[in-house]
Amino acid sequence: MMNVKEIRKLFPIFNQVKPLHYLDSAASSLKPQVVLDAMDSYYEKLGVNVHRGTYQLTYEATDLYEKARSTVADFINAATDEVVFTRGATEALNMVAYSYRNILKPGDEIITSELEHHSQLIPWQVTAKKTGAKLVFIPLDKAGKITVENFSEVLSDKTKVVAINHVSNALGYETPVKEITRLAHEKQAIVSLDAAQSIAHQKIDVKELNVDFLAFSGHKMFGPSGIGVLYGKKELLNDLEPMQYGGEMADDVFHEYATVKPSPIRFEAGTPIIAGAIGLGSAIEFILALGYDKIHTHLTKLHQMLIAELKEIKEITLYNETASHPTVTFNIKDIHPHDIASYLDQKGVSVRAGHHCAQLVSRFLNVPSTLRVSLHIYNTEEDLFVLIDALKEAHQFFSSF
Ligand code: PMP
Repeated sequence: MMNVKEIRKLFPIFNQVKPLHYLDSAASSLKPQVVLDAMDSYYEKLGVNVHRGTYQLTYEATDLYEKARSTVADFINAATDEVVFTRGATEALNMVAYSYRNILKPGDEIITSELEHHSQLIPWQVTAKKTGAKLVFIPLDKAGKITVENFSEVLSDKTKVVAINHVSNALGYETPVKEITRLAHEKQAIVSLDAAQSIAHQKIDVKELNVDFLAFSGHKMFGPSGIGVLYGKKELLNDLEPMQYGGEMADDVFHEYATVKPSPIRFEAGTPIIAGAIGLGSAIEFILALGYDKIHTHLTKLHQMLIAELKEIKEITLYNETASHPTVTFNIKDIHPHDIASYLDQKGVSVRAGHHCAQLVSRFLNVPSTLRVSLHIYNTEEDLFVLIDALKEAHQFFSSF
C-alpha cells in the first residue's frame, strides 16, 4: 500500500509549484499524471470524433469514450444508458430542473435547503418561478444540518421534487439521503441529488441510495474540468426534455420536427467531451486503485488534527466542528477572510475565502464570508503545520494595525 509521500509523486504539480500546501480540494482536486496521460493519448493517437465515422480511428475513439461511460456506470452501480456526460455537476443539475419546467404545476412543491450550492438552488428557483411551483426549505438544525425529522416536517402530498446535496461544500455535513429518499418516494416525489462533494470521498451506489437523479463533476475527483455526469433512472431520463438539440442525438429529422434518440445520446447533442470523458474514466480507475478506505483513513486523521489545532487558537470561530467530511469552515475575529487567504497564499498555502457559491449558508451563519480548508489524499501533516503557523502569523500581522 502506498504512503502519502509516494502518492504525492503521482501528481506532477508538486514538482512544478513549490511550496504548495494545497488546501482547496473541495473546489477542485489536483490531477494525477495517469489522467493527463489518458487524455494526451487520445489526442496523440486518435483525436477524431466519436459515433459518426466509418473508419478505424473513429471506432477506436468511440470505444474509449463508451468504455469511460461503462467505467462510470460500474463505479456508481448504474446502467450505461443511465450515465449522461455533461460539462459538470452544474450542467447536470440544470438539466433536471430545466426539464421539470414542463412537468411541475402551480401549487406543486420543491423541497430544497439553505445548504445548497447555487448550481442546485438557482435552477429550481427559476423552475419554480416559471411553473408556479413553490420552493420549500428544510429547516436546518442548530449546527446547520439537514435531518430526517426536519425533512419530514416539510414533506407533504404537494411535494413533487426534492433537490438536495449529498455533502455540503460549505459545511462538510452528509445528508441522510437514503431515508429522505425513502420518505420522498412514499409521496411519489423524485429526488435529485448533488453528489459533487461526496463522490471524491465515498462509494456511491445509486441503487442503494435509490435517488432518481444524481450529479457530479470530474475535476473534484482527480479528473479534468469540463466533464461531469448526470445519472438518472432510465424511465425518467427518457421523459426529460433535452436542453440542447443538434448532431447525433437526432433520430429522424423532417421539415417541421425531429425525433430524438433515447438516453444517453438524447442529452449529448453535438461533439461530446471526448478527452474529458476518457480522463474521468482514468480518474475513477485511480480512485479505485487507491481505495476509498485508504482515503477515508488518511483524511480522518488529518481532519481531526486540524480541528484540534484550530480550536487552540482562541480568536477562531469554527462553524462545523462535527462535519463528517474534511472541510473545515471558520473565521478569525475581526479579520476579513480574503485578507487571511491572501496572506496564506504568500506562504504557499491555498485555501478558499468567500461564500463558496452557497450564499444561503453565509446567511445562516450570519457572516458575509468564511475561510474554508478542505483536504485530500495528497495532504500531509506538514501542510497543516504550515497552515496553522501562517494563520497565527496572519492574525498577529492584521491585529497590529
Ligand atoms: N455542488 C457542489 C456541492 C459543489 O461543491 C460544486 C462545485 N463547487 C458544484 C455543485 C458545481 O460543480 P461544477 O462547478 O463542477 O459544475
